Amino acid sequence: MTDSLALSDIELAAIRADFPLLGHRLADGKELVYLDTAATSQRPRVVEEAMREFTENHNAAVHRGAHQLAAEATLAYEAARAGVADFLGASPEELVFTSGTTAGINLLVASFLAASGNKSGGSSQRFAVGPGDRIVVTEAEHHSNLVPWQRLAQLTGAELAWLPVDSAGRIRLDEISRVIGPRSRIVAFTGASNVSGAVTPVAPLVDAAHQVGALTVMDAAQLAPHQPLDVGALRVDFAVLSAHKMLGPNGIGGLYGRAELLQAMPPGSLGGSMVEIVTMREATFQPPPARFEAGTQAVTQAVGWAAAIAYLNDLGMDRVAAQEHALTSRLLAGLARIPGLRVLGPAEADGRIGAVALEIEGVHPHDAGQFLDAEGIAVRVGHHCAQPIHRAMGVTSSTRASLGLYNTALEVDRFLDAVSQVRSYFGVGR
Ligand code: PLP
Repeated sequence: MTDSLALSDIELAAIRADFPLLGHRLADGKELVYLDTAATSQRPRVVEEAMREFTENHNAAVHRGAHQLAAEATLAYEAARAGVADFLGASPEELVFTSGTTAGINLLVASFLAASGNKSGGSSQRFAVGPGDRIVVTEAEHHSNLVPWQRLAQLTGAELAWLPVDSAGRIRLDEISRVIGPRSRIVAFTGASNVSGAVTPVAPLVDAAHQVGALTVMDAAQLAPHQPLDVGALRVDFAVLSAHKMLGPNGIGGLYGRAELLQAMPPGSLGGSMVEIVTMREATFQPPPARFEAGTQAVTQAVGWAAAIAYLNDLGMDRVAAQEHALTSRLLAGLARIPGLRVLGPAEADGRIGAVALEIEGVHPHDAGQFLDAEGIAVRVGHHCAQPIHRAMGVTSSTRASLGLYNTALEVDRFLDAVSQVRSYFGVGR
């Protein structure tokens, strides 16, 4: 990673001016320091503008109706799809709009369940799982990439197995040959942990999965906002992500699936807009991606997401990554100088994103969060919807600061200064 691509102060100031919320003053007049981008990112003005332009000029339900407005809305929706797909290195028919990462994984699980219950054979059988089969996840997963797979295992009789993490929350690749075996059908893993920040080396997982004919599912919720992403180069079969973590609006996200797989996969959600011919007894389905988009779609949000992606593309994801890498280095170096803190993740900025979770010895994360909040600093406290990885690292919860491309060195320093006072404020270590 070359930090020479990091943004200059002038560039960063111009970027911050695009995000109205970053100028927000708190009730006590303090300037907000927003360090909770891993939960949800802030949005540049262009995102709201794109959505307003759509609402005021083109709003209609897509893929229906013969009127011109519906055609305009459909054009905007499909242009948004093309923009998001391109960002991922996919083609438009490989990108299904969902309401977010969680919905994308649930959609996959519902499709696997539909295939598992279908005894008539056919191409959907490659998605069927049953007793004796294995579904592999990792201990680093957000609950949304764990609990749906637990349900799939429970309902089909398949076995759930997982790759453990090491003491820094990195997925243990040395366990691959023990966990991924001939009966493995699915290998689901996060691209980057929202707790340890560790970026997953994808190639060994994909190689091991494909060697035994298993399908790979990458949770890209934390990876997509921070690094260039190319699903083709990564060779993953499926990937899921959320717009709201990458400068876009709430309520929209995507499921990428290799074209050939989406062609064969049965829909997990059924209703309007995804069917061809419907009789009282049965229905035939549209080709993908429409087959997986039942119901009226979040068109305005899709347009907003595409605007967020255009903003990221203008900046360049290599520069976003470099900027965040430089700031993460500063944050980690500063934390290493403060006694009584343990970083729950890799100590170096290489191979991680800027989500940095901490154990503050002797202080409960909720207390730490309140102290930091009083200083104007917004961090996340708790288990961040990832209890197993916390347990694996010997804690139940943590205090997490997470960086976005719009954060400054000054903000990192304000956080470091505040966090250095937490233990003495609560009378610990005196
Ligand atoms: N996966 C990871 C790694 C996450 O960090 C999150 C959200 O924090 C999710 C999945 C769930 O995303 P969403 O709530 O947008 O569906």
